[in-house]
Amino acid sequence: MGGIRLNSGDMIMPPFKRCPKCGKTEFGVHGIHGDRVLRRCRDCWYSRNVPLPPVHKKIIYLDQFVISEFAKLKNPQARGHERIRANPFWQQAYDLPIADDLLSGLRLAPGGVAYLLD
Ligand SMILES: [Zn+2]
Repeated sequence: MGGIRLNSGDMIMPPFKRCPKCGKTEFGVHGIHGDRVLRRCRDCWYSRNVPLPPVHKKIIYLDQFVISEFAKLKNPQARGHERIRANPFWQQAYDLPIADDLLSGLRLAPGGVAYLLD
């Protein structure tokens, strides 16, 4: 009977560093929990939580609706152009530095757009 056998060591992922306890290069990533990573050695099972650096980026999620409204705003022949243009919110949103990237397709993803701000 075939099958796949896993052991706990298979759940420890690279990058592997030198283990502080046994010295072997088997000290990998066992899990990431909030603001820390749990490193564990595949040989001696020594574990240590390592704090992650603070996050300074924000992700803005925009769905297809926003991209559609931007396109209507910029195209006077589009159905709904006047309605969108009459609402100052859409021009203000379009003036954000992300809008050109969205319309040029640089940041498009199936089902929506995730934009990473520095
Ligand atoms: Zn070790």
